[in-house]
Amino acid sequence: MYIVQIASECAPVIKAGGLGDVVYGLSRELENRGHCVELILPMYDCMRYDHIWGLHDAYRDLYVPWYGGVIHCSVFCGWVHGRVCFFIQPHSEDNFFNRGLYYGSQDDNMRFAFFSKAALEFLLRSNKRPDIIHCHDWQTGLVPVMLYEMYQYHGMGNQRVCYTIHNFKHQGIGGADILWATGLNREPYYFQYDRLRDNFNPFALNFMKGGIVYSNYVNTVSPHHAWEARFGDVGYGLGHTLEIHQSKFGGILNGVDYNIWNPEVDNYIPQKYSLDTIAEKAKNKQALRNRLLLQDVKKPIIAYIGRLDQQKGVHLVHHAIYYALNRGAQFVLLGSATESSINSWFWHEKQYLNNNPDVHLELSFNEELAHLIYASADMMVVPSNYEPCGLTQLISLKYGTVPIVRGVGGLVSTVFDRDYDANKPPEKRNGYVFYQTDSHALESAMERAIGLWYEYPKKFEYLIQQGMEYDYSWNNPGTSYLSIFDYIKC
Ligand code: ADP
Repeated sequence: MYIVQIASECAPVIKAGGLGDVVYGLSRELENRGHCVELILPMYDCMRYDHIWGLHDAYRDLYVPWYGGVIHCSVFCGWVHGRVCFFIQPHSEDNFFNRGLYYGSQDDNMRFAFFSKAALEFLLRSNKRPDIIHCHDWQTGLVPVMLYEMYQYHGMGNQRVCYTIHNFKHQGIGGADILWATGLNREPYYFQYDRLRDNFNPFALNFMKGGIVYSNYVNTVSPHHAWEARFGDVGYGLGHTLEIHQSKFGGILNGVDYNIWNPEVDNYIPQKYSLDTIAEKAKNKQALRNRLLLQDVKKPIIAYIGRLDQQKGVHLVHHAIYYALNRGAQFVLLGSATESSINSWFWHEKQYLNNNPDVHLELSFNEELAHLIYASADMMVVPSNYEPCGLTQLISLKYGTVPIVRGVGGLVSTVFDRDYDANKPPEKRNGYVFYQTDSHALESAMERAIGLWYEYPKKFEYLIQQGMEYDYSWNNPGTSYLSIFDYIKC
């Protein structure tokens, strides 16, 4: 099969969160199974060019229709750790991708509407006719809309779209100007509720809704979250749309690329280790302490890695720091916040805790440090308010770092409480789960984990081993995606 991924991220060259990991990992898996996979990405000025090999111009003069005129683009091609990627670089005063950021501009909806249009125009002009176009999140929600309403009449009638939603919270909202810019026009037509009109704001168009309505198949990144999005409040207003399109909607759990996230082969960590040599992990713990100037004492290290925002349960993350310190543990946090209030809050905490030898808050995005923390910590807290899949707990399991998670979304399908999970035999349990959003719930789970570490180290080690035995690679999800692609393919 010939598959083209159109996305706003691909790790490690463009990564703001799990989306980047998934786009890369899934592409690799599909390619390993003999399929032809290409990626189309924006050419951001701030991406990690050091992870691209052989960057060259592949299509010099791409003219993308925009607002009745055209925007001249160049398309570059390069290899990102073996994956063939096409990067779209527009030359216009809008400077869509030269902002020093991936997301967070006022005109993000225009930036990614343009990207979606340019990606399709590139496929059309370069005569690429994939069997499957795989789109991701709101940024590419307009791809299936434009494919169905415009590009199929220009010779792209056989392309089928799988649309994967990694986070329902950000849906891409715009007004009629989006229609005029992209050439979709026909305001009354698209402003109908069964097309792009937002379910709650009658004056707005919703990119993600468009993606759901027009794609051949739609999925989110865990079966449990698919259920939550339809019947709970985490669909952020799209539950009804999912209900209408339920026959083509499902959930596929994400995988982890074990060529990258694997303590046996990880080049970012000073000491590699495996299930049979877990004791070696202590050397990484030592290295982390040296690097972050933490005191070398017999205490567990509890970590948090992730974006610092409401979705991730920042209040509980904050509480976890102080609870860990009170209970005789060390705490390491690696996170970045886009919301300024949360950012200043954690900067304040960082300064306040500056001289404490048991804690380090690293407020940045640092891929290399993330690897070292996964390989050093004893436990990882993931107290999310909602979590479509969650990769941090999956990576932690592979690195023998016991996850302490809130039982929502993909977390509930991947972490099984050591003491209470009635559906798993004791030898299949791999972490700690709490359900409520209050600090007592978190404390009770942390207390059990820290208690086991101190009182029953042997049992704690069994728990680590049981976690490491789980296979959350792309093997199973790869099969699921392929059966969907097969099903929707012409
Ligand atoms: P989300 O996609 O909601 O941000 P996921 O758990 O699905 O959360 O994926 C998070 C990914 O981003 C993981 O690979 C994690 O290691 C990484 N990550 C998150 N924050 C940081 C950070 N500050 N520095 C380095 N890596 C980070």
